[in-house]
Amino acid sequence: MLAARTKGGIAMKKPLLQVEGLKKHFVSQKGFSKRSKQIVKAVDGISFDIQAGETFGLVGESGCGKSTTGRMIMQMLEATEGTVTFDGRRMDTVSGQELKKARKDFQMIFQDPYASLNPRMTVRDIIAEPLIVHRLEEGKGIDQRVYELLDTVGLPKKAAERYPHEFSGGQRQRIGIARALAVKPKLIIADEPVSALDVSIQSQVLNLLKDLQDEFDLTYLFIAHDLSVVDFISDRIAVMYLGNIVEIGERDDVIQNPQHPYTKALLSAVPVPDPRAKRERIVLEGDLPSPSNPPSGCPFHTRCPFAWDRCKNEVPKLQRGKESSQLASCHLLDG
Ligand code: SF4
Repeated sequence: MLAARTKGGIAMKKPLLQVEGLKKHFVSQKGFSKRSKQIVKAVDGISFDIQAGETFGLVGESGCGKSTTGRMIMQMLEATEGTVTFDGRRMDTVSGQELKKARKDFQMIFQDPYASLNPRMTVRDIIAEPLIVHRLEEGKGIDQRVYELLDTVGLPKKAAERYPHEFSGGQRQRIGIARALAVKPKLIIADEPVSALDVSIQSQVLNLLKDLQDEFDLTYLFIAHDLSVVDFISDRIAVMYLGNIVEIGERDDVIQNPQHPYTKALLSAVPVPDPRAKRERIVLEGDLPSPSNPPSGCPFHTRCPFAWDRCKNEVPKLQRGKESSQLASCHLLDG
């Protein structure tokens, strides 16, 4: 884990990943008329950097655009606007064989390890596949590397001949991690990697990810809806709401001194380990608004307990508060 190497959520050194003004707007049909279209603003202009060796947590409710962001970075989805620069290279300028080659450096771990593992393939074949595709091993070297990777993620050699359905959820996630590690990536995008697992297993997988980061000098973009999980693993955190980043900064600043009312509400829902300690629960009214019809002004104003007239009309900019070092987009920080 890295110590403080950023200021106010902005990375100070040359980052491994730079995301600038990234947008994903989907066009969908509205109602029964084929002519009537609507724009769904899944991601609406977000920017952040991730430095080598860092864990950057992206947190928010389901539907806020965090997984879409991960898929755009992976080049699995084309961005509507904005850029993704990986290791100094603009990814929108890379395609075909070059993109395939570049993909070796960034891998993804998915929420549902069962759905992401081919049920007809043995674990050996699943882990061997990227080794063969990227021509990293051949002959007996493939099996040797598969056994090595199984050992790295805490699975026995004999797991290689079995099929995904023969494993528990936590073990399947370990197989997914082994497959991601096979190509020795620089960046791993982990999209809700523990949310389908029991709490006891969650901590085992999170600790494994931390150990692997130290061992292999990995960089993580860790996507989750659970702020306590993001708090556990991240160096810096960005909070997303309705396709926008509403708060970004060092983990401790965001968790101990949240500035945006949405971050405060998310934090208030996290159980406190000490039963004597009390945390006031902020219950958000209503559901996440539709990204096809986002509210005017501050996107959070329809649910914010502090909203006033200005919030309905004026979009707040990301700014530093007087008593904080992170950035948040809220008019209350204007002072
Ligand atoms: Fe709430 Fe207004 Fe701040 Fe938005 S700008 S978070 S509505 S107080």
